Amino acid sequence: MKLQCQVEVVNRLHSSLSIKSNGRYLKSTLALAKQPKLKKDEETEYVILHFSTINKTGIKYKVSSVKQLFVKCIEKGLSTVRFEEPPVDLCIKSEATQLKCFLRLLKSCLSGNCKDVKLDNISNISVTHKDIAPTKMVIKDRSQFPDKGFPRTLEFLHIIGLKLHNFRRDILLLRNLVVLDLSDNEIEKIPPEFGRLPNLAELILVNNHLGKQSKVDWRWLLGPQIIKKLKLLDLSGNSIKLLPKSIWKLQRLVTLKVDNNNLIKLPSTLGRLGSLRYLSLSKNELETLPCSLMQCPLEHIDICYNKFQMSNNKTINMEHSPWEIYVGSLAHLVSKVVLKHKIFYAPNLIPWTLVDFLDNSHMCVCGAPVVNDKTHLYKEFDLKSFFNVVVFDSCRNSSVCFECYFCSPKCFSKVIKSS
Ligand SMILES: [Zn+2]
Repeated sequence: MKLQCQVEVVNRLHSSLSIKSNGRYLKSTLALAKQPKLKKDEETEYVILHFSTINKTGIKYKVSSVKQLFVKCIEKGLSTVRFEEPPVDLCIKSEATQLKCFLRLLKSCLSGNCKDVKLDNISNISVTHKDIAPTKMVIKDRSQFPDKGFPRTLEFLHIIGLKLHNFRRDILLLRNLVVLDLSDNEIEKIPPEFGRLPNLAELILVNNHLGKQSKVDWRWLLGPQIIKKLKLLDLSGNSIKLLPKSIWKLQRLVTLKVDNNNLIKLPSTLGRLGSLRYLSLSKNELETLPCSLMQCPLEHIDICYNKFQMSNNKTINMEHSPWEIYVGSLAHLVSKVVLKHKIFYAPNLIPWTLVDFLDNSHMCVCGAPVVNDKTHLYKEFDLKSFFNVVVFDSCRNSSVCFECYFCSPKCFSKVIKSS
């Protein structure tokens, strides 16, 4: 029997000499096997073979020298097998059911109660490439797709340049996936279930057709699991016209690349991405940036080749007096408090119309939430005064027109006066 697992080998002599183990679990296969009998009347000897990524020929441990089995955390898929000789502990992490099955078999070998158990001879056991569960796969040709579907152990999957039109649904089964690169395909749609991948940290969708449809369904990007882990999102080269307003929900996002699209405007909520450090916006049709961006702790912004225009502080929607900013409805006032204190809200707690209202709120130049967007104006600011690295093309400078919203007449007059 073979067990796919992760193993850390701890030498007890080291610990008595206070040499610390490196605490590294290696991807491994443990195999339980029979030692061939040399003489007929000899008792069958059983062994555990430990194959790992650094030892593919396997290390042999005699079952008869097992001193103790630690199974307290077996339900979590953790166990330790302690050997008398050599004085090592094999600390095992595996899927709980398989681990239990393996240990049950080991116990019956230990007790000698295993006449019915069929085990391979040691000479028949070898670890094929497949046994060491693969974690990375790069597919650049259709013939490289595995016949039996993707191994569930994959953490890195790259399917590049195949002109795939449809998103492969078997990707949705890869719960361990950390990095997914689907560059240079022709994918137009990603199913909403994609948002449930629990470990995805990097998503690269460069040069696909995501923006081709008139109304893009972004649910896959804003799913309950993906928003908790995603750190890098590259949507360059997808003919996207608008990003979803709720993109701010990707609270772990550090890098956002949307180069070479057809973006005219960015969502005013973008500044709510509290972890964003790198933003690349080159080769779009942007004329302004949302003022919420000033609140983003960006280190690097690339604004090359856009259509930013010089503003003459043109104010739109000024038929309302700025004093109206003060007088809001009860919903406005409550929303401000909820946003300011970052109180948790969800559609199962409050009416979805309110959720929508809160999700789409703007941000003042000072960073305070703005739910009343009656007054906003365009004003130019130098990006260099906010961010460390600003990349801009030679035919313009680093000043860009911002679409500004205001939480109070005070903020409003501050911006007006600074012009
Ligand atoms: Zn303000």
